Amino acid sequence: MNDAPEQLVVRNLTKQFTLADESLSILAGVDLTLNRGEALAITGPSGSGKSTLLYILGVLDQPTAGEVIQFNQNPFVLSAKEQAEFRNQNIGFIFQDHHLMPQFSVLENVLIPTMVHQGSSSDAEERARHLLERVGLKDRLNHRPAQISGGERQRVAVCRALINNPRLLLADEPTGNLDRANTEAIGKLLLEINQEQNTILICVTHSSELAALFPQHQRLRDGLLVTESV
Ligand code: ADP
Ligand code: MG
Repeated sequence: MNDAPEQLVVRNLTKQFTLADESLSILAGVDLTLNRGEALAITGPSGSGKSTLLYILGVLDQPTAGEVIQFNQNPFVLSAKEQAEFRNQNIGFIFQDHHLMPQFSVLENVLIPTMVHQGSSSDAEERARHLLERVGLKDRLNHRPAQISGGERQRVAVCRALINNPRLLLADEPTGNLDRANTEAIGKLLLEINQEQNTILICVTHSSELAALFPQHQRLRDGLLVTESV
């Protein structure tokens, strides 16, 4: 037995966008291997392909070529339905602008990813309450997203990403709209959860302040990941 089941492996990943007759190469051969418990910050200027890479790792977009193996599975050979299930069971995704549903409460927003499961909803609710307490929001369960602060909304988004116990947690500029104090709080929270739950954590950001909190750093440059200190 090897430890491949617990790894994320990316080999020679490329992504091109074709618009009209022009082909734009955004990822030009990305290689990456991460094990459970590892946390990586990927930096790079706007337009360097950070979101493109993260969306592919989140199985929200297709690579042009190359290999992505997550926990012994290449998700891109699965049907759309199987891919959705794979994503739901293995991947938590945190967006820059939280993507919470305005009409639902904090607690309901965290529960949304559990609604496709058949399991007991009281278990899920118990877990959601526990997560929200963990991030300091136990007194905000029935608030709507508009009734809490930006930092609080991102903490709700973190809980929603964690509700199905993902092995892979992906964050796309999770502090892009936050001030310095909240940036540090969210960064520390992500890293604590990465250790507590033994996830693979990848955070893309243009914030060197956020990246500096992470134990590993890479930079996207000319479509390639290069190791660089921040
Ligand atoms: P970053 O997140 O680092 O700011 P992105 O990954 O969003 O960068 O985008 C990288 C480049 O790819 C940009 O130049 C962008 O215009 C281009 N791009 C992203 N998505 C598409 C798309 N769906 N079609 C065409 N070009 C795209
Ligand atoms: Mg982006």
